[in-house]
Amino acid sequence: MPAPMQGELQPTIYRFKFGELEIANILDSKVVREGLHPSHGGEHPASEMEALAAANHIDPKRVEHPFIPTIVNTGKQLILFDTGNGALRREHEQLRNRSVDGHLVERLGQAGYKPGDVDVVVITHGHPDHIGGLTEGGKPVFPNARYVFGAAEFDFWKRGENVREARKFNRELFVKICVPLADKSTFIKPGDEVVSGITAVDAAGHSPGLLAFHIESDGKRFMITADTCTQYVMAVQRPQWHFEMDDDKDKAVATRKRVLDMLATDKLFVAGFHMPFPGIGYIEKSQGGYRWVPHSYQLNL
Ligand SMILES: [Zn+2]
Repeated sequence: MPAPMQGELQPTIYRFKFGELEIANILDSKVVREGLHPSHGGEHPASEMEALAAANHIDPKRVEHPFIPTIVNTGKQLILFDTGNGALRREHEQLRNRSVDGHLVERLGQAGYKPGDVDVVVITHGHPDHIGGLTEGGKPVFPNARYVFGAAEFDFWKRGENVREARKFNRELFVKICVPLADKSTFIKPGDEVVSGITAVDAAGHSPGLLAFHIESDGKRFMITADTCTQYVMAVQRPQWHFEMDDDKDKAVATRKRVLDMLATDKLFVAGFHMPFPGIGYIEKSQGGYRWVPHSYQLNL
């Protein structure tokens, strides 16, 4: 008997020690999207994007888009950064064909964490794939957690002024999911700490108050960049290209350039929410732009 085909088998959890900390990246889910253009670099001819895709051995017509929350155990507190898609697809007709079921809780379980173990949930920004796993059936998924939001981000979505058409439903979601959590939340600004050694960094542009997080432990430095760069080739090698999901395109470009320059200059470990799993790598300067260098074994040693 020939062995049967078994189907895809790919890793969904990656955990490593970082200074005094233990950090894990968990694949909540992923979708395949059609086409990198005009969503990336739409202000340039498609042929430029196609050439860049070809030079990087990726298909310009089919793109894997992963969602990767990060969990940090400080030894005293378990801190989750973003919550993935959760039950959004099942709970909202509008997202039935656009979203995907989140697997964060199930995979946290495989990694040894129960929802009740999470002490702090940090939300980098208010887009659906980051807030979707906060609640299910109207109840908090992480029952013992307090929450940390960027003050500017929370304010923007709560107020609901100048929300562009494409984000109107996003605003509804934010009001439904996040606003009721306000009394268990802390609101921070760039430069503030979540806990000692974990500091918010301004990354506004993709959303009005997007926060990245700088983590330092035992002299080692790590940055959670969230959605500063949403595609490991397009947004990194061409940070100046517009991305259609960036709420303020010019500001997002300026932020990408500033953050990428810092990551490359300081040689930080980087976790990016939409980078290829496990979403960890380095940024280096390359040909007038930058390049994503995937992590190999450096963090295993
Ligand atoms: Zn995102």
